[in-house]
Amino acid sequence: MSFDTLGLSAELLRAVSEQGYTTPTPVQSQAIPVILDGRDVMAGAQTGTGKTAGFTLPLLQRLSESAQNGPRPVRALVLTPTRELAAQVGESIELYGRHLPLRSAVVFGGVNINPQKARLRRGVDVLVATPGRLLDLINQRSADLSRVEILVLDEADRMLDMGFIHDIRKLMAMMPEKDDRQTLLFSATFSREIKQLAARLLDRPVSIEVARCNETAGSINQVIHPVDKARKRELLSHMIGSHNWRQVLVFTRTKHGANRLAQQLQRDGLSATAIHGNKSQGARTRALAAFKSGEVRVLVATDIAARGLDIDQLPHVVNYELPNIAEDYVHRIGRTGRAGLDGEAVSLVCVDEKALLRDIEKLLGRKIPQRVLKGYEPDLTIPAEPIQKGRKGGGRPRSHNGAGRRNRSSAPHSRSGRGPNRGSGRGRGRSKVV
Ligand code: AMP
Repeated sequence: MSFDTLGLSAELLRAVSEQGYTTPTPVQSQAIPVILDGRDVMAGAQTGTGKTAGFTLPLLQRLSESAQNGPRPVRALVLTPTRELAAQVGESIELYGRHLPLRSAVVFGGVNINPQKARLRRGVDVLVATPGRLLDLINQRSADLSRVEILVLDEADRMLDMGFIHDIRKLMAMMPEKDDRQTLLFSATFSREIKQLAARLLDRPVSIEVARCNETAGSINQVIHPVDKARKRELLSHMIGSHNWRQVLVFTRTKHGANRLAQQLQRDGLSATAIHGNKSQGARTRALAAFKSGEVRVLVATDIAARGLDIDQLPHVVNYELPNIAEDYVHRIGRTGRAGLDGEAVSLVCVDEKALLRDIEKLLGRKIPQRVLKGYEPDLTIPAEPIQKGRKGGGRPRSHNGAGRRNRSSAPHSRSGRGPNRGSGRGRGRSKVV
């Protein structure tokens, strides 16, 4: 299929071809005609599927078909959970809309509000916003949502996770009713809360699903490396160096952990920087730019900061610590294997994290292969049990035995499985030592 068959205007097709895109991704080929038709959409699509162009292109086309002269009210609003995602969606709108006479703006918190007010005063057709700052602007009478024709909720699951539901409700009350606007909801996962939100906001939506719900993209090779907590940093440095990884995005659970790990990696001689919510917007933008340009090799991030980051062709993602919320695993690894490219998602998992791992595998409905790396055998291995999807609490691991005491001088272990760790590593589903 080519973009020409989707009903897009010459200006948009030109912008698409200038981007070098020749074939629409599945979410684009499904969503674009339906959105052009004016229907509401509920799309199960995570970052990396091309969803941004999937809603941006038809949105721009619909607005340009009824371009306004004179004062320009906000006619399309894209709500995103994070500043980074807002900035990225804003960039896409600028890029795809470059041959159209439409104006767009991006507003988010953490930066001076006055330039945003001035921009809104000049008039914008498409506004991309995070909910909190948008409410501030409305309260200060600098934004008005009464003329919104198209509303997009991007990464709606994350907006709920981040506690934006009340802000979203307030914003909805300021917009035309659902049968007087077009609403597009994108979410990587579909919890009961998301379905409830969708039922309230959408009017007879067309459902689009590009990957099965709660499923990760197929081109991501996932692996678990069991390792002791105290040796994770050493193993990470070793993997980056010995496999000569060009670039890697590393996830930690806490902001403090992200800072500390970035500093430790720097001491290991790797160019690394951290991105998280405690950093100023300027520092976050600079860190992301340094990573995107290749100047920095390792970006250490917390879940919220990394949400929606669009980094082209990222080959490796590492979960330095597993997330507390299983859905975050899906979001995290969605940073690699993007737009059909292959990627690798490595999780360094210590024995304390076995319950988190079990939740993730339950969500995925399958086991993630485990590989113990030579010289990094953990004291205790993580028992791998068959996953029974939907079983309450997942499979309870049996108690660990102490047979795997690490003896670094005795490594490496042979593939025949007679190394110290294999005491607990035999039989079904056990970790493989490689
Ligand atoms: P998204 O899921 O919107 O974050 O997009 C993921 C990445 O795919 C971005 O870097 C886009 O530039 C890229 N992309 C979007 N659409 C296409 C396409 N049709 N062909 C190739 N790359 C695309």
